Amino acid sequence: APVRLEDHESPPSSVPPAAGSAAASSAEPPPIAHGIEATIGNTPLVEIRSLSAATGRTILAKAEFLNGAGNSPKDRVALNLIREAEAAGLLVPGRGDTIYEGTSGSTGISLATLARAMGYRAHICMSDDQSVEKAQLLHHLGATVERVPVAPITDPGHFVNRARSRAREHCAAADAAADKATASRGFFADQFESAANYRAHQGTTGPEILAQTGGEIDAFVAGAGTGGTVTGVAKYLKEDAGLRRSVRVVVADPHGSGLYNKVKYGVMYSHTEKEGTRRRTQVDSVVEGIGMNRLTAVLAEGLDLIDDAVAVSDEQAERMGRWLVEKDGIFVGSSSCVNCVAAVATALTLPEGSRVVTVLCDSGARHLSKFWKNIAEAGLEEQEDADEDLLKILGL
Ligand code: PMP
Repeated sequence: APVRLEDHESPPSSVPPAAGSAAASSAEPPPIAHGIEATIGNTPLVEIRSLSAATGRTILAKAEFLNGAGNSPKDRVALNLIREAEAAGLLVPGRGDTIYEGTSGSTGISLATLARAMGYRAHICMSDDQSVEKAQLLHHLGATVERVPVAPITDPGHFVNRARSRAREHCAAADAAADKATASRGFFADQFESAANYRAHQGTTGPEILAQTGGEIDAFVAGAGTGGTVTGVAKYLKEDAGLRRSVRVVVADPHGSGLYNKVKYGVMYSHTEKEGTRRRTQVDSVVEGIGMNRLTAVLAEGLDLIDDAVAVSDEQAERMGRWLVEKDGIFVGSSSCVNCVAAVATALTLPEGSRVVTVLCDSGARHLSKFWKNIAEAGLEEQEDADEDLLKILGL
């Protein structure tokens, strides 16, 4: 039967709302959002009850897949990249300007969506190892999509370098135009190097976490793709809110990423990187969006604020993916699962009752052809009730 509006209405006042139901919420619904930009941020902080129960600590996750434009934390970043560029006069709405970016997907999706809402075009360069549904989505969002072969960052064909050179070509054409003042220009968003990236999280994600936890937070755990999330939240919590002594900031690192060794031993070294072989992916993992083998300017800015790192295997991430669906009804992508494994591992190093905050980055629907296919093929979906001990399942 179709769901009727009445089904969602509050019960009569004589009937107390069930504890924990949406109707029990005393919060006012949010006001009218004037444009999709206004639906970004203020995401819920969700307790993942099964992880709290398994660890004896409280595991909270920022539900970033509920951001309203591109449905990931990159909405915050894209919005701030555009706003800072507008403030600097680099983007002018309605001039026909194009935003260029090299991205593994999420930032491109957010930029493509917001570009349209704010009066721009988007041209996204991405490497061809990324899932095909991301490229399709970008196309449907009206962006120009340029898929390039996997190449080292020193190669002009690397997706980031390609986006930068496309923006330069656009600006050179504008400079050569007869009416230079009104010609459309290109803007290279540059999320890996731009401070506007981490400032988005320093200005919104961090303050929201502080407000939602009332300052009761013992650790923040997140993976790093550009490092924007971890740098921005760490800067806010440790520098702006003065929680340097009480909050541990931990990087969740997938297999094949060099960040774990960088944080632990000061050397960026990935164990799976073989001399002379062409790596199929940026990091040798099924996980998309996080992990790195070079230090971006954005992460370098926050490196001193990172206390620890947890290395997470693909198998651990996949088992967590299945666990979260089965126990909590939470269906998320690979980076979110890496974050949750690292949050559990971090929680176990802290006293009982501690509070750990992590991030659920995007929906599992973005990861059907790789991560969730692997989970299905590993037979994890048939193993219902096989083992109820999460720590044993994860080998922790
Ligand atoms: N998860 C996903 C799915 C992503 O695409 C990204 C960004 N590449 C991240 C997590 C990591 O975020 P950040 O760039 O802030 O380190």
